[in-house]
Amino acid sequence: MKVLIVGGGPAGSLSAIAVGKHHDVLIVEEHQSAGFPVQCAGLISSDCYGRLRRLSKCKLNDIRGAFFIAPNGDYVELEGKCGGVVVERKILDRDLLAKASELAEVWVKSKFVDARDGKAKIIRFGEMKLVKFDAIIGADGIYSAVARCFNFDRPKILPAVQMECRYKALSDDMVELFFGNSYSDGFFAYAIPLDETARIGVVSRSNPKLYLDNLIKRHPSASKRIKSDKVIELNVGAIPIGLIDFVKDNVALIGDSAGMVKPYTGGGLFYLLRATEILEECFPDLRKFREEYIKAIGREISFGMRIYKLYSMLNDEEYNYLIKIAKDYSHLAKELHMDNPSTLLKVLPAIIKIVRKPKLLKKLLSVLAT
Ligand SMILES: Cc1cc2nc3c(=O)[nH]c(=O)nc-3n(C[C@H](O)[C@H](O)[C@H](O)COP(=O)(O)OP(=O)(O)OC[C@H]3O[C@@H](n4cnc5c(N)ncnc54)[C@H](O)[C@@H]3O)c2cc1C
Repeated sequence: MKVLIVGGGPAGSLSAIAVGKHHDVLIVEEHQSAGFPVQCAGLISSDCYGRLRRLSKCKLNDIRGAFFIAPNGDYVELEGKCGGVVVERKILDRDLLAKASELAEVWVKSKFVDARDGKAKIIRFGEMKLVKFDAIIGADGIYSAVARCFNFDRPKILPAVQMECRYKALSDDMVELFFGNSYSDGFFAYAIPLDETARIGVVSRSNPKLYLDNLIKRHPSASKRIKSDKVIELNVGAIPIGLIDFVKDNVALIGDSAGMVKPYTGGGLFYLLRATEILEECFPDLRKFREEYIKAIGREISFGMRIYKLYSMLNDEEYNYLIKIAKDYSHLAKELHMDNPSTLLKVLPAIIKIVRKPKLLKKLLSVLAT
């Protein structure tokens, strides 16, 4: 079977590794190489890294947990069931594409533009090529041309901005998450520590650059520790929110193109890795692939959507309160897994007992307990 994979990012390379042993696979990637420009903080769970390690040794740092930082600068330190790892995306993407090229043909500088009747139009080094395919996988990211060509629905998109600069982290093995309505509209800001620097970013429903400026200039804790005079890298990107129906006949979307992203953090690597593991078991039956993926991950993505909704319902005072009371109950975080937001349900009965503000409790229950 001839399989065309559009996109040489992690979703495309891992899809090729999944199906390339038994099928004739061609990857087309519009850039010269994978992993540029980097639009990723590189934080994944150690479970996820454990599954990727055989393909790429791209670890930069181990992460124990996260500081959840309130708008007033107060914070709680939480460690979940599983730690995290910061990876170097340039290395990960390059290694994955190299592994994929052992099983698949790879065309770089080749852009998918259209497809009809089992033939795709690819512009390669300025020339139009017609490529025959039996199945096509759209792993071409958030603005997927494959999704557009085959009239798939599109996920909602949140803009993001990220910079790397010198930073005095609270701890070099803890991520910092900044909540509050001055630092994001409906999401949060973050700092991922590296050696002397950090990747500092904002995901927001609107104007992330404005919120990043607020973090740099006004945040009671972060602003004193960010050294933004020397910005090493600055990127803008976007996060898809919400899984769409990702299979039609002989076409499947995988990765950002399908909204296979945690809606409560913006992390996409684990959910796309799981997709390619399931693809390997089911291919070429794409309907079964969809069914099995929804069985395995669908519940987590829909629960993650509830947490995403909550971000825009909470005000600064409520964030301050939640983070203050969480300090006495930080042991409960051991029940939580960063890849499985539904683990929050395990601590919901405790939350109901602890939260003493009826309006806030009503908000929490209206989203989490339905
Ligand atoms: C600021 C930011 C921070 C993030 N941080 C994290 C994090 O810490 N952890 C995490 O897990 N995730 C994170 N993510 C999400 C993660 O980066 C994505 O989920 C992941 O890159 C998706 O991989 P993909 O292969 O689906 O898409 P991409 O990585 O976007 O790859 C798509 C590929 O397709 C190619 N392409 C596009 N169109 C065409 C075409 N027409 N023809 C040929 N090729 C084409 C592109 O050149 C690209 O190489 C972050 C995202 C952002 C924006």
